[in-house]
Amino acid sequence: MMPSACEAELAPNQANYVPLSPLSFLKRAAHIYPDRDAVVHGERRYTYRQLHQRARRLASALERVGVQPGDRVAVLAPNVPELLEAHYGVPGAGAVLVSINIRLEAKTIAFILRHSAAKVLICDREFSAIARQALAALETRPLVIDIDDVQVRDAELIGELDYEAFLDQGDPMRSLSLPENEWQSIAINYTSGTTGDPKGVVLHHRGAYLNACAGALIFQLSSRSVYLWTLPMFHCNGWSHTWAVTLSGGTHICLRKVQADLIHAAIAKHGVTHMSAAPVVMSMLIHAEEPCERRANQPVAVITGGAAPPSAVIAAMEARGFNITHAYGMTESYGPSTLCLWQPGLDELPLEARAQFMSRQGVAHPMLEDATVLDTDTGQPVPADGASLGELVVRGNTVMKGYLNNPEETRAAFADGWLHTGDLAVLHPDGYVEIKDRSKDIIISGGENISSLEIEEVLYQHPGVIEAAVVARPDSRWGETPHAFVTLRADALTNTSGDDLILWCRERLAHFKAPRHVSLVELPKTATGKIQKFVLREWARRPLEAPTET
Ligand code: ADP
Repeated sequence: MMPSACEAELAPNQANYVPLSPLSFLKRAAHIYPDRDAVVHGERRYTYRQLHQRARRLASALERVGVQPGDRVAVLAPNVPELLEAHYGVPGAGAVLVSINIRLEAKTIAFILRHSAAKVLICDREFSAIARQALAALETRPLVIDIDDVQVRDAELIGELDYEAFLDQGDPMRSLSLPENEWQSIAINYTSGTTGDPKGVVLHHRGAYLNACAGALIFQLSSRSVYLWTLPMFHCNGWSHTWAVTLSGGTHICLRKVQADLIHAAIAKHGVTHMSAAPVVMSMLIHAEEPCERRANQPVAVITGGAAPPSAVIAAMEARGFNITHAYGMTESYGPSTLCLWQPGLDELPLEARAQFMSRQGVAHPMLEDATVLDTDTGQPVPADGASLGELVVRGNTVMKGYLNNPEETRAAFADGWLHTGDLAVLHPDGYVEIKDRSKDIIISGGENISSLEIEEVLYQHPGVIEAAVVARPDSRWGETPHAFVTLRADALTNTSGDDLILWCRERLAHFKAPRHVSLVELPKTATGKIQKFVLREWARRPLEAPTET
């Protein structure tokens, strides 16, 4: 018989094909580590057996109130056990999780609830006031379930049901349903919508499984890992770490508020080994009154990303004993999709040079097929010369399904078979990419391209600078000039002026790149903690006599 005919008879069956879903991770962790702490929140602790049971009860209870496969279940909560449980219980009922950013205003929360047609809203008591406002704007109210945490007492309860009572209605023996098809949606995450209505990024079980595997690999998670939740779980499902930590059987440590003293205390108390943090959180730790230093025998690995980490911030964290890994990604890619991978010889470099290297966005993570930089005019790969600027594009199994009810934006995002990130980058000769800007952030002065990140990098090296962001200021002679907005440490305010910072840059950069103007301000941030450059661009258009200008 022809081998091909024989092979044709080999079809997938239950023995050799199981849809990829991170739900399998929890079942496995509960089997292997039933008594290991799965999640700790203040005085509350759940083992993996308990977490699995609670997730199963949640799936069952959702089903009993009429949630059907494909329905959306929204959660408005900070990093509490209930949000982690929802990452299993909601898809375990075949439903789709919509975790909403707690820093959003009522109007946007209402938009998300309406756009996702959420049937249920699970709402943490701390955010009941804003949720009440959002719900008032809806034509159809979802079923509202209150999370009544002992850490929050003074806020009202707005739901029809209490979360614990709701869980009690669920069957702890109902198994979490694996999807029939791994392409089934697992979550919809809304982008921050800085340029219009937020877009609903639809993610599938397969991508979540694979991105969690990549996360566990690049972060070297194991059953000994203790993961501190300094990154919001509502942000790309905590960069898929909600699933990756469970995959490895590590312990999730919840944290309601991201504050330097609380992080410090949690690291010491729980023996934290891993955490993820945007560069602004690292800056906060570096400049905290009480310095956050790891204990000598307890290394803390940190994945940073979400915005470009200045090398000075990486160096300051490494000097304090944190091991930094820099990752890059988007909501559209389940969180991290590239990382600045370690190379032999790196450890021997002086700290500054090492940090400089680590501030690159790097190479595709193990589950991403490809990441490259394309010339924005020709669509061809740019030369790997570390200088030619193009758009960073990625493709692979950890890229979203598309935007919910938005075929036009979906088509644009996937043009020519790549996910277009809108980030401008160079490709170094060693194949590592380095982002220079978002496409709309590049500054063109006298016909020269100036990377705002390059200027920010130099500003962050100044000892008095906590945060810095540079945007284009319209200029009649040059077209545009760089305008820096800077937050100084309180102790630097008396002896550092805007002119000093301009001089600092001129000594370290080509003169045309140095900012022409510096404003000492509190920087405006998005709900995900990113600096709002569009607001700064507005400010940069104003005349210079504003009181904060120097
Ligand atoms: P939003 O566009 O709503 O802010 P994301 O949170 O998905 O949504 O942000 C993705 C963007 O964040 C990327 O396109 C990029 O501009 C920026 N970003 C994320 N990680 C990094 C990084 N490591 N370095 C530079 N920029 C980053």
